[in-house]
Amino acid sequence: MSKPLQSVKGMNDILPEETALWLYLEDTVRQTFESYGYKQMRMPVLEQTALFKRGIGEATDIVEKEMYTFEDRSGDSLTLRPEGTAGTVRAGMQHGLFHNQIQRLWYIGPMFRRERPQKGRYRQFFQIGVETFGMPGPDIDAELIIMTARLWKTLGLEGLRLELNTLGTSETRVKYREDLIRYFSASQELLDEDSQRRLDKNPLRILDSKNPAMAELIKGAPTFEEYLDEESADHFKTLCETLDQAGIEYIVNPRLVRGLDYYSKTVFEWITDQLGSQGTVCGGGRFDGLIEHFGGKDTPAIGFAMGLDRLVELLKDNGTTVNSAPDIYLISMGDLATKQGLVLAEKIRDQIPTARLLSNCGGGSYKAQFKRADKSGARYAIIIGEDETAAGTVSVKDLKEGDQSTVKQTELAQLMSDYLA
Ligand code: ATP
Ligand code: MG
Repeated sequence: MSKPLQSVKGMNDILPEETALWLYLEDTVRQTFESYGYKQMRMPVLEQTALFKRGIGEATDIVEKEMYTFEDRSGDSLTLRPEGTAGTVRAGMQHGLFHNQIQRLWYIGPMFRRERPQKGRYRQFFQIGVETFGMPGPDIDAELIIMTARLWKTLGLEGLRLELNTLGTSETRVKYREDLIRYFSASQELLDEDSQRRLDKNPLRILDSKNPAMAELIKGAPTFEEYLDEESADHFKTLCETLDQAGIEYIVNPRLVRGLDYYSKTVFEWITDQLGSQGTVCGGGRFDGLIEHFGGKDTPAIGFAMGLDRLVELLKDNGTTVNSAPDIYLISMGDLATKQGLVLAEKIRDQIPTARLLSNCGGGSYKAQFKRADKSGARYAIIIGEDETAAGTVSVKDLKEGDQSTVKQTELAQLMSDYLA
């Protein structure tokens, strides 16, 4: 016999006992974003490969080695999206969302990167992201950060560290780039393979390297501060002041670069020490140059993306639990009772739309059904057998306290409504 098929390496199944936490996280994020007026957008999972090459940049880990790219049957090169910004920008341009308009958008969905799978790093992972367009900031920059801070608070996540930096404008980065190339070229033998390759194309990316062997070299590199243009410096100052006034703590990290070429001014990350080296749960920044780079009109933009897999892990670590047990388990014995039971269940759902009610299906002895009721975690069992069917009654048992009573079927929905109130 052949081996049963397995999922693709680095791509996980999320099983029913885990999804309650995922849904809790997703619902909380959605409610939070809606409370700030953000609207959801849904883009395809597959895009033209060229979109990511241009949008993310050729000299990045993602484009150089992580994309799932293939030719479809007509020879077009397609790629499973590794992130959501490029697709959001593409869709916004295609549908004219950026013409003299302000947009506050968010998306959720799977992303695909062929990385080395490890805790907190998968080949299919989930992101929720926000992208805003038409606002030059720093007010919107502050709003995004304040909104994420509120989200952590609502989720009960403590100890997340906010790191901030400014990358200036692309014009001001030219000089910095040159000096960085000069600095790293002087110690070329200390650069790893990736960094050697990036030296001329994207030296800022070297600062982002996680290779410990290069930490010392990177530490000595010139920092961007001295190169910063006045406008970007003012922008950053106002952002910091706004965060101060909002009571949000942050660390200015001059090494924070977030690779993309089109990032400008504000960049930020939220980091936890609880998850080991995969500690960044949210990263974002301003990408004022991207739309123009795609051939559109100069449009200011800023956004962020959160890694849901890591956030779920963090919630689990914190002992966050979500009660997904039913309120009621309906036990029935015999065909007649089962039919009546299903109808009674509907009456209860009519009366209490939020009630979680599990009807026993598939038969079984009383003992077996009570066992299922216990296992389900339901607070109440409703029992309907031959006697009850004949008498037009049911028994209701409090599975926690143990007491049991008999009520008329016509009064059941109201009684359960009182119990669950
Ligand atoms: P990292 O430095 O951890 O590789 P990144 O800079 O590549 O992150 P972004 O592209 O900014 O990540 O994506 C935003 C968030 O998405 C990350 O902060 C992280 O929480 C999550 N993320 C990125 N890659 C993965 C992955 N392979 N598996 C799980 N989550 C991921
Ligand atoms: Mg990465």
